[in-house]
Amino acid sequence: MSQRKENEPQSAINPFKTAQRQLDEAAAVMELDSAAHELLRWPSRELHVTLPVKMDNGKTKIFHGFRVQYNDARGPNKGGIRFHPDETIDTVRALGAWMTWKTSVMDIPLGGGKGGIICDPKSMSAGELERLSRAYIRQVGGILGPKKDIPAPDVYTTPQIMAWMADEYSMMQGNNEFGVITGKPLALGGSAGRGDATARGGIYCVRDAADELGIDIKGKTAAIQGYGNAGSFAHKLAVELLGMKVVAVSDSKGGIYNPDGLWYENVLAHKAQTGSVAGFPEAEYISNEALLELDVDVLFPSALEEVITGNNAQRVKAKIIAELANGPTTPEADDILYKNGCYVIPDFLCNAGGVTVSWFEMVQNSYGYYWEEDEVHKRLEKKMKTAFSAVHKASRKYGVHNRLGAYIVAIERVAEAMKLRGWY
Ligand code: GLU
Repeated sequence: MSQRKENEPQSAINPFKTAQRQLDEAAAVMELDSAAHELLRWPSRELHVTLPVKMDNGKTKIFHGFRVQYNDARGPNKGGIRFHPDETIDTVRALGAWMTWKTSVMDIPLGGGKGGIICDPKSMSAGELERLSRAYIRQVGGILGPKKDIPAPDVYTTPQIMAWMADEYSMMQGNNEFGVITGKPLALGGSAGRGDATARGGIYCVRDAADELGIDIKGKTAAIQGYGNAGSFAHKLAVELLGMKVVAVSDSKGGIYNPDGLWYENVLAHKAQTGSVAGFPEAEYISNEALLELDVDVLFPSALEEVITGNNAQRVKAKIIAELANGPTTPEADDILYKNGCYVIPDFLCNAGGVTVSWFEMVQNSYGYYWEEDEVHKRLEKKMKTAFSAVHKASRKYGVHNRLGAYIVAIERVAEAMKLRGWY
C-alpha cells in the first residue's frame, strides 16, 4: 500500500482523503497490482502559482492557484477550473482524481486534471475576473495545450472566462489555439449542447436507473441542491425530458419548497433578479439540510463536496440519488445508503455529460467542422447509456454499491493503459 505516508492528507474531512479511500476500497475488491495502486493514489504532476492582479481600486492583490495533472495514461489531462474562496490543493487533487475516473468510465481518450484559484468571484468586477483569468493562464499556460492538458468551466467559472483564457493562451502561442480549453462561447469554437450537457447526462442516467428499478419516472418528485449550471438545467430537463415534478431547489443562500412543483422559468427569473432562489414567492423556505432529507423520488446534489455524510445519510429518503456535484457523498454515507436500498448514480458517471461534450468540442475544434445540437444530444445519450450499463453490470457482478462498481470499471481501463505503456 502507500509508501508516501508523510504526505497523506491530514484533516478528517478532506476530499482527497475521500478520493484515496474510495480508490483503496476498489483496489482491494479487484486485487489491483500494488504499484498501479500506489501510482493512482497521487497526482502525477501539480503546479502551484501566485498571481498578482491589479484591482479596480488601483492596488495589486495576490491570488493563489493550482493546476493538478492527475493521470494521463489514456490521453491528455482534462478537467475544469474552479474559482472558490475555500479552494485548497487537496480539493483540486481530489477533483483531478475524479476527472481521471470520469473520462475512463465514459471511455473517452482523455486523462484527468483540475485547476483552482482561491478567490471570491461574487465580490469581483468583470475587469478583475478577466485580469485574474489571464494571470492564471500566463502562469500555467506552459503545461497546457490541446495535446497536454485542456481546462474547462467548473464551479463559478463561465464561458466568458473560458474565452479570456483561450485568448490569453492564443496570444502566448502567437496563433489561435481555441482547442486548449472547452466550454467556450459558440462564437469562439464552443460546441452546441455544452451548456446543459452536465445536467442532460445526469437526466439520461436517472431515466436508465428508473428503468432498472421498475419505476415509472413520469410525475415522480425531485429535489435539487444547488442552482448553478448543473442544478438549474437539471430542474428544466427533469420536467421537460422526464415529466418529473421538482418540489424543492436551493442555492448557497437557502432553498424553496412547494409540494405542487416549482416552475423553472419563474425560479430562474427570481434568481436573476435577487441573486438567489431563496425568497421565491410561490414557495416556502427550506434549508439546504432539510432539502436533502425530503421524501422525494430523486435527489440531485448539485453543489459542492461532502453534503451527504455519516451524520445525515440515515435520514435521506430519496430512492435515487443523482450526483451532479463532484464528491457530494462520503464513504460512510455510501455504506448507509447502500444498506437502505438507495440507488446512487455516482458523480463521475452522473455528471460526466459535461466532459463528454467537452471532448466533442475538442474533436470539432480539431477538424474545424461543427455539429448540430441534435447530433450532440444523440452522441451524448449513446455514451451515457453505455457507461451507465457498464457500471450497473460491474456493481452487480462484484456485489458492491454503484460507486465501487464505477471505480472498478474506470480503474481497469486506466490500469490497462498504464500496463501497456510499461508504467508498471
Ligand atoms: N468541470 C466539469 C467536470 O467536473 C467539466 C470538465 C470538462 O469539461 O473538462 O466534469
